[in-house]
Amino acid sequence: MKVFISADIEGTTLTTYWDQTRTLTEAKAKPHCQQMTREVVAACEGAIAAGATEILIKDAHGKGINIDINQLPECATLIRNWSGHPLSMAYGCDETFDAAMFVGYHSAAGRNGNPLSHTETTQTTSVRLNGMICSEFLLYSWACAMMGVPTVLLAGDKMLTEDSKGLHPKLKTVAVKDGFGAMIRCLHPKVACDKIRQAAEEGLKQDLTDAVPQLPEHFVFELSYKEHKVAAKMSAYPGCKLVDDLTVRFESDDFMEVLRCGQHIM
Ligand SMILES: [Zn+2]
Repeated sequence: MKVFISADIEGTTLTTYWDQTRTLTEAKAKPHCQQMTREVVAACEGAIAAGATEILIKDAHGKGINIDINQLPECATLIRNWSGHPLSMAYGCDETFDAAMFVGYHSAAGRNGNPLSHTETTQTTSVRLNGMICSEFLLYSWACAMMGVPTVLLAGDKMLTEDSKGLHPKLKTVAVKDGFGAMIRCLHPKVACDKIRQAAEEGLKQDLTDAVPQLPEHFVFELSYKEHKVAAKMSAYPGCKLVDDLTVRFESDDFMEVLRCGQHIM
């Protein structure tokens, strides 16, 4: 059984400040890379307990070199840095995978459930997809669905898990922290990992027929910016138009084009 895991850092249990996520330049980010690695390892262990024999992990934060491969099981391979492909945080997943898991994911732009909430960029106050709150989890778990791969696990902040309910029929969620304003209340790192391990195993052990949601036939991607200048510039992207001074709308029938637009978000 083949499993794809996409890992971010702002939704791991301890991250609270942006400098803790600047993993290349800030020494204080090191423990957060370690926790990101531990949460990914926990997902791998749960997947292996449920029968996974091959695991591909996309290190999907910052420069993409946060996870310590030495701690991963030997059946895992790791994608570091970025290809530039629109699949971005889901890069590497394809039709041959049996399931996808998302670890360390965070609330969408403008949501107060995580002090580090954002969607692709920190320049927007809200991002919507077909009227729904659009998190990075929504974008990339739908990218997996587009390839016929069911998403069975989401670990991240509590608000993201609540916002994501109903997106995937067989989704198991783990809320490793709960935020309000600038604060977080987090689980003990070991408890967070235990819960992730268990949910990964339970998620993958389910009957996964009919586990892939039917995606809409048309996509309306709407981005509201903090600054009108950024919205104006973004409105020059092919297919984008300005709907008010701060808001840009992109429409397509092809979800890959939404992802491509997402890659050009400022
Ligand atoms: Zn990140």
